[in-house]
Amino acid sequence: MPEIVVDVLRLDLIHPVISGNKWFKLQGHWPRIPQASGTVITFGGAWSNHLIATACAAHHSGIRSVGIVRGEAPRELSPTLRAARDYGMRLEFIRRSDYAARNDPALLAELSARYPGAYIIPEGGGGPPGIQGCAGILRTIDCTRYTHICCAVGTGAMFLGLALSARPEQYVIGIPVLKGVDPLAVPDACLLSPAQRTRSQTLSGYHFGGYARHPAVLLEFMNGLYRDTGIPTDIVYTGKLFFAIRDAVAHNIFPPFANLLLIHSGGLQGNRSLAPGTLQF
Ligand SMILES: *Cc1c(COP(=O)(O)O)cnc(C)c1O
Repeated sequence: MPEIVVDVLRLDLIHPVISGNKWFKLQGHWPRIPQASGTVITFGGAWSNHLIATACAAHHSGIRSVGIVRGEAPRELSPTLRAARDYGMRLEFIRRSDYAARNDPALLAELSARYPGAYIIPEGGGGPPGIQGCAGILRTIDCTRYTHICCAVGTGAMFLGLALSARPEQYVIGIPVLKGVDPLAVPDACLLSPAQRTRSQTLSGYHFGGYARHPAVLLEFMNGLYRDTGIPTDIVYTGKLFFAIRDAVAHNIFPPFANLLLIHSGGLQGNRSLAPGTLQF
């Protein structure tokens, strides 16, 4: 039997709070925060990995942070938001209908007026600086032997960063974790050369019903993966990535003797949204 080798790049181990790809995205954004204002503003939901990473990074750099949170202020904050607040992040809750306008110039202008000189990071930490930051992921190890680099896709910023920095002969395979996203259709995809674009592909059909949906079959897979390998995954991104790759290998999607590198992009804190005991790790 031709063998397929799968290695995992454990970015979940980089930092307990500024986890996974968020570390790299913030590397791209951080130098752009104006010294004078010393304020960063960003966006996220109640369990956002990006929001808590930004709050923690701001705390350690001695700058102010503001989090624009999707939805009405809850009676009790999620553990993620509580931790962000404890890092000093000022939380502003906005209605879901208003949150939909998070990239609109009008909302950004309103924020800039209230927080003069503040640097605004888009939801999820993307945009060209976040993408360039993610290009640093493949520089952390020697990746020459891998034929395919595989990652989860939310906004697609990490996927694009990997595509920008992969070697010319490597494929970058993205697993969208929500319905109907195509990271090659977003405006920032213009950063890729035609050759990088042809080597970047998505495997769809592994969103499990949508963003943050986690049916029992996914949870069972994650528990089994942990039992077999000791690798913990998260319900939103990496659980779906590992499931998809195992399924794709079983269906001979990859050529014989492929060497896969799976990017474990972190995000384990999001599992705190589950009832205790749901996961065995
Ligand atoms: C944010 C996040 C992603 C998605 O990254 P995008 O650049 O938005 O596609 C993937 N995995 C984890 C664990 C994340 O926290």
